[in-house]
Amino acid sequence: MAIVRTEAFVLKAFRYGETSMIYRLLTRDRGVVPVIARGARSPRSRLGAAVNAFRRLDVTYYDKPGREIQTLSQAEVVSEHREIASSLEKLDVAGTWFRFLRSILPDGAPAEPLYALAAIALDRLERVAPASLFRWETYHRAAAAGLLGLAPRLEACMACERPLPDGRELAFSIEDGGLVCLACVPRLRPLTGPEYGILALYHHPDWKLLEELGDPDGDERRVQALVHSFVAYHADVLPHRDLRAG
Ligand SMILES: [Zn+2]
Repeated sequence: MAIVRTEAFVLKAFRYGETSMIYRLLTRDRGVVPVIARGARSPRSRLGAAVNAFRRLDVTYYDKPGREIQTLSQAEVVSEHREIASSLEKLDVAGTWFRFLRSILPDGAPAEPLYALAAIALDRLERVAPASLFRWETYHRAAAAGLLGLAPRLEACMACERPLPDGRELAFSIEDGGLVCLACVPRLRPLTGPEYGILALYHHPDWKLLEELGDPDGDERRVQALVHSFVAYHADVLPHRDLRAG
């Protein structure tokens, strides 16, 4: 049995028995690790007080190879996100994104880049304006998928390999995995210039530039729908629809 100390976020929490909790952790060093926190629901438990959704934690657990659930022994708060914790909308969107991470990441797979992304994404979510919450979720969904190799190709036509954009009409083919010349796949709806520009910001990630666009407009909403459909198709997960977008 080894003692592992690493950083982690809680992806999911379940009650277990009278006073315990089982947490599915996204750890920096070991990917997804399920742990049991014995007594975490008793009022004086330090573990129970520290472990909470969307907190960045310093955790120590006993790792026994072959065991499905490891035993959490200590947890300290590295940073908490008060703005997220106090906003139902932010909690909702952060929860949606964490569920997505959980759905694409097998237990035990290395996840250091995803952990780093989660840390930076939650820091950004603290400051995101209400109108841009779906942008936050879509952008970071594309970023997480990209880290797992599920990014669309935007530099050349998926059908004829011609470098793009080249001034001709373009389209985005979810099934083919990226940009195509409209002439190559004429059944698709053409992408407008603004849509192409926004699509590039989502997939060659530049959060700062995206934020400078101001509140999302119709072009961006259409791009968000494409991004969600692309990730859902290639990561084999259900797309998340923004019901409030109208
Ligand atoms: Zn082509």
